[in-house]
Amino acid sequence: MGVVTTNHFKQPDIYAVWTKDADVRYKSTSGGAFTELAKNILNKGGLVAGARYNEECLVEHCLVDSLDGLDEIRQSKYMSSIPGNIYKDVKAALEEGRLIGFCGAPCQVLGLYSFLGKDYDNLITMDFICRGMNSPKAFKAWLSELEEREGCKAKKVWFKYKDGGWKSSPKRTRVDFEDGHYVVKEGEDNLYMYGYLTSNLYIRPSCGNCTVKGVPRQGDITLADFWGIESELDDDKGTSMLLINSEKGRDLFDEIRNNMVVHQRNFSEIFNGNPMFSTSAKVPNETHEFLADLDNMSFTDALKKYGGYPSAISRWKKIVKKIKTVILCLASNGDIK
Ligand SMILES: Cc1cc2nc3c(=O)[nH]c(=O)nc-3n(C[C@H](O)[C@H](O)[C@H](O)COP(=O)(O)OP(=O)(O)OC[C@H]3O[C@@H](n4cnc5c(N)ncnc54)[C@H](O)[C@@H]3O)c2cc1C
Ligand code: SF4
Repeated sequence: MGVVTTNHFKQPDIYAVWTKDADVRYKSTSGGAFTELAKNILNKGGLVAGARYNEECLVEHCLVDSLDGLDEIRQSKYMSSIPGNIYKDVKAALEEGRLIGFCGAPCQVLGLYSFLGKDYDNLITMDFICRGMNSPKAFKAWLSELEEREGCKAKKVWFKYKDGGWKSSPKRTRVDFEDGHYVVKEGEDNLYMYGYLTSNLYIRPSCGNCTVKGVPRQGDITLADFWGIESELDDDKGTSMLLINSEKGRDLFDEIRNNMVVHQRNFSEIFNGNPMFSTSAKVPNETHEFLADLDNMSFTDALKKYGGYPSAISRWKKIVKKIKTVILCLASNGDIK
């Protein structure tokens, strides 16, 4: 248990929510709850810490003080974020009396509290149910392959792109390029998310034995997708699960609940569709070798080598190859004129 979470609820209040702002909801990973919480903090003159892309398309933590900044930190980025000076910056702002909202993985929230050594009245923390953090090296290897194919540098990666629905979004990623075009990678053609969600090959090994699962939570509020929510509360546009873990979290939630559609749910419903709430992902032993091989191998070839390549694509490619061979044979026998 962390230094601060001793007073966090053992049984949090659970809500299914989504923001009434349709644009924010569309651009958010689940129901846009994070943006509503963050906007409230900004409106009070506070700062919000979250994860954004830097110029190299890697993810780093930063503090923002505006709605433009909020646009950058919105959305889940499925790789480790570089902490940089974030803990120091948060501490300095807290000491100045600024209101701070900090959002990160549960272990990052624990890291912040450990760094601060105490809680602050002007700090509100948000974590999320966390499947695990991917290696940025694997992400860059996948992205480089795509950039080579498209002949252009990528400028933004939009994971869980909702064009086509929220429930199918985990395997849909949109990549925007510097020349203005974008591509959408879906299903088994989306090798990066396919690998993340099936083989776990490039999840950080420490995530395989995560010590901050379950309750009490690290953050005052926990954000998640409400996977498994009943159909009346699922229009496939994104339903967030909110866990209210402390009195501080409850106070903030009460201030924003009118901006959202809100339904209180039972604690047991967390387990219907979110095994990662209490269970660590199984990270294979080959992760280190897989990452080392990326020094001289493409992402696709490394996936194939370690059994993380979708078999349906392999099968489909074999079928196409066979068809081509038959056509060539028939053509050379003169059966096709
Ligand atoms: C690596 C990862 C794994 C996750 N695993 C699960 C899961 O198994 N089950 C589940 O229900 N939900 C999971 N989530 C949470 C989920 O994807 C949504 O972030 C959550 O539902 C909140 O959505 P939202 O619409 O309210 O806001 P969003 O706008 O999507 O909020 C995302 C918040 O997370 C922060 N963030 C984004 N990427 C990172 C990162 N790499 N490191 C630290 N902070 C980041 C953003 O700055 C923002 O504050 C995961 C998120 C991440 C980043
Ligand atoms: S799975 Fe656990 S250790 Fe890994 S990033 Fe998430 S909270 Fe941290």
